[in-house]
This record gives sequence, C-alpha cells and structure tokens, in this order.
Amino acid sequence: MTIHIFNVFTCNARWPSKLKTGMVCGLVETDDGLALIDTGPGLEDYSNPHWMMRLFPIIFQAPLDPQEAAINQVQRLGYKPEDVRHIILTHMHFDHCGGLTDFPWAKVHVHRREYEAFAGKLHRWTDLAYIQRHITGVVEWKFHETGDGKWYEFDAIRLPFEPEMWLVPLHGHSQGHCGVAVKTGLGWFFNAADAGAVYNNDIPAWVIKLVLGPHDARLRRFMKNHPEVRLCNSHMFPEWFDEGRPG
Ligand SMILES: [Zn+2]
Repeated sequence: MTIHIFNVFTCNARWPSKLKTGMVCGLVETDDGLALIDTGPGLEDYSNPHWMMRLFPIIFQAPLDPQEAAINQVQRLGYKPEDVRHIILTHMHFDHCGGLTDFPWAKVHVHRREYEAFAGKLHRWTDLAYIQRHITGVVEWKFHETGDGKWYEFDAIRLPFEPEMWLVPLHGHSQGHCGVAVKTGLGWFFNAADAGAVYNNDIPAWVIKLVLGPHDARLRRFMKNHPEVRLCNSHMFPEWFDEGRPG
C-alpha cells in the first residue's frame, strides 16, 4: 500500500507572517485504482480564476502556481491522470474540490449532507466557498450517509476500498464536512481536514470554533490519547510536508 501526500495549495498569512500553510492532498493506491483525498484547486481555477481565487491572493500570500494542481503532481509521481478512479472529498469548498474538473472520469465520494449543502441555499458564511462550476463535469457520485460504523470512538463510514479507509463525519466547518482515515503500513493516518487547527496554538479557541466548527478540542484530546495515529488538518505548515508524511 502506498500513500503519497503533497501540497496542492500554498497559502501564507500576511500577518502573522510566520503562519505559512500548504494544503494536504492524499493519493492512495487502492485495490480499485488510485484514490485522491481532496484535490486542491484545478487547472481551470488558475487559467480562469473564479472570484475566490482572485480574492485569496489579496488577503493571503498565495502564489497560485498551477504546478501545485493535483493533476500535475499525480503525473510527476509517474501516474497517468486516468489512473485516478476515485476522489474522496472532506468537503466541497473551492480549495478542496476545484480539481474535480481535471478528473471527470473519477467516482466522487462525499457525505450526502455536504453535497446537499453545496447544491442548496446558503446556510452559513463559509458556504460562500462553494463554487458551482466545480461539479459540472462529474459523471458519477457516491453519496455516503452516517450509519452505525465506528472508527476509534468516532461515528464513521467504511469506504469500499482496501486498504481500510473511513469517512469520519465532523460536521460544522461545512454542513457535511468529514475527515478521512487511512490504514497505512505504518498505522493510521487521519486527515481531519478543516475540522480543527490542532497544531496551531496561536489562534484563539473562539476563532477556531467560528471558522472551523466545534471539533478542535476533541481532536486535540484524541491526538493526545492516540499518539499512534498520525493526525493532520488540511492546511499544514511547510515542514510537515517534508517531515510528517505518513509513509
Ligand atoms: Zn474549508
């Protein structure tokens, strides 16, 4: 089993200047082809930027380099884009799913509540990060719903692949937001996506709750109680991409 982790969206704060982040994308070799966990922005987001992609470099230092697009990174790893058979989305904000347009043949896995939020009315301000054109090319969806499965103490949905993978509902940042857990050769890797900022102790808890939802404290506890699980959020600092890879 091989899992590759790469940064698909560099976005650094203008203040505090030390806050630098990349966005975690996972590529897993499964028994049914490659599965991509989140995509980052797609090529069209660079060539024909929507309003969010135009706004971000004003607020943040975002180089907007199309070389960071998942399709380019997949090819640099020696795979063909068509090898990507599945895309698993933590949620459908533009920085997590813009690359759907580069893999229109892939089956897209997402929590049903997230898709309904994307397709429905604006419910909270973070819904502004949904860009409707991102799903126009998708031909096959697989909507997942919370059942009675468990991964550790979390309610979770088993994804239909080997290695063992779970979609872990952590709703809040968006209505159907989930984390994704993957059993690697070195143990569990858990991408808790935008449900917390567990490596950042500078952001006040109320800001985290406002922007990322209610799960940050629980994720920090989980991380402490389960050091054997390699947990990350989506927007990790540059050193993590060099050192924290799940192997
Ligand atoms: Zn988000």
